Amino acid sequence: MSEPIDSIDKQDLPPLLIPEGVNYNCQGCGRCCTGWSVGLTEADYARVKDIDWGSVNPDLKDKDLFIHKEQEYKSGTSLYPHFTRPRPDGSCSFLVDSLCTIHSLMGEDAKPGTCQLFPYTFVETPSAIYTGVSLSSMASVRNLGRPLTEQREALEGYFERARSYVTTKAQEGGSGSVNMLVEKPYSTVLLSGQTSVSWDEFLHLDNKMLEIIKAAEQTNEDIIQTLLKVEEVILLSIAMAKSGVSLAEIASYQPTGTMGGAASGSANEGIMAMTYYLYLVYPSIRASYTDMWQLNNKERFGPKKIMRLLNQYGQYIGSGFSTIFLKNASVKNYGKVNLRKAIEYKIKPLPEITQEFFRRWLYLKIFSKVYFGPSFCEYSLLAGFNNLVTCFILTMIFAKGEAMLRKEDEVKLADLYEGMFRVDKESLMMNQLLPQVTVALAVAYSVPKMGRGILQTLAKG
Ligand code: SF4
Repeated sequence: MSEPIDSIDKQDLPPLLIPEGVNYNCQGCGRCCTGWSVGLTEADYARVKDIDWGSVNPDLKDKDLFIHKEQEYKSGTSLYPHFTRPRPDGSCSFLVDSLCTIHSLMGEDAKPGTCQLFPYTFVETPSAIYTGVSLSSMASVRNLGRPLTEQREALEGYFERARSYVTTKAQEGGSGSVNMLVEKPYSTVLLSGQTSVSWDEFLHLDNKMLEIIKAAEQTNEDIIQTLLKVEEVILLSIAMAKSGVSLAEIASYQPTGTMGGAASGSANEGIMAMTYYLYLVYPSIRASYTDMWQLNNKERFGPKKIMRLLNQYGQYIGSGFSTIFLKNASVKNYGKVNLRKAIEYKIKPLPEITQEFFRRWLYLKIFSKVYFGPSFCEYSLLAGFNNLVTCFILTMIFAKGEAMLRKEDEVKLADLYEGMFRVDKESLMMNQLLPQVTVALAVAYSVPKMGRGILQTLAKG
């Protein structure tokens, strides 16, 4: 269990490292407050439960604002004892005119802990605390606001809040990470399968990956090339670690970024279609059933609920079959696309601004260490990286699908922002998926050179 932040001598904490070129300040669009049901600790709930919200804002009058899952929480099947209840359109009930009513009435400190900390991420390691932002905020996707490097004091404050929140959760008997801050240290890093290295050894590989991304900036290298180079040094490091060679030697290695050795095409396509369903199709169906997100056991067996459940599961199964087996995907408020055709669809080369967007995304993910280990479902480094490759591919398929529907030969940056926003949001929720789903995905992601076949096709297109 973590010590409360007050009792920690800050001198004992490793330095807080901040990514360069990453900007963020809330733009008040309210999109972060839509699409999920926010978990509340008992302390979060105690702050807001007795307020007569209807008298504060008529929009909240006679509304059932919370979902309670105390029993499931006690039995370990729910991460929180309470949740906010979203409206039918998926927006948080407390969101009125794009503003949080809790924040407006009681100040930032009264909001649920998760909302106070969103979208910042903190990963505590033996050598440093790595900060970053999740891209499931439109402001962070678009890089809006002041550079994080100019907001050190605020980030230190948010880190203290995050630690204190983890402590509160632990004291209440809860578990799980908060904004990627986890209690377990990263003393070792699982590269893949059974191959682990010490944190210090891993830092040689980490430096190399960041060096590759920085060098790509100088030459405006295509993002696919950069992804291939990073993958190359990861695979080489795994081989070196298996042979007992120090990863320090990776510093002098010059990756070529050449294609080849792709995992089987049909397996690749199957995994991509499955993740397209999970990250982009499934959430848009879930959004139509917000009242079903956090069912109370006693409600589960009412006839109306059963009808809705059957209807919902029918849609899940139908759309899952269509996406995974027929490759025909439909995303709410967007069109229906054939994934295979979208992957192969020919477009103009990505302009510099788009390459910059993807490089910033890759740099941020690699720098902030949110893609593997305790902060990401205990995934190995290889599985975590393959998940990143998948996120890139899904974002591209999403944007290419839109270009195809418009019969245009270039993707729009706005579609890439939208795709990444959606994909990153679901990626953030991976920690909350059923363990069976997370494990199945980890197995799929552990295949070396997993995304190459699709990257090859995307590069040709
Ligand atoms: S509680 Fe407030 S900040 Fe949190 S999701 Fe709802 S409206 Fe947004």
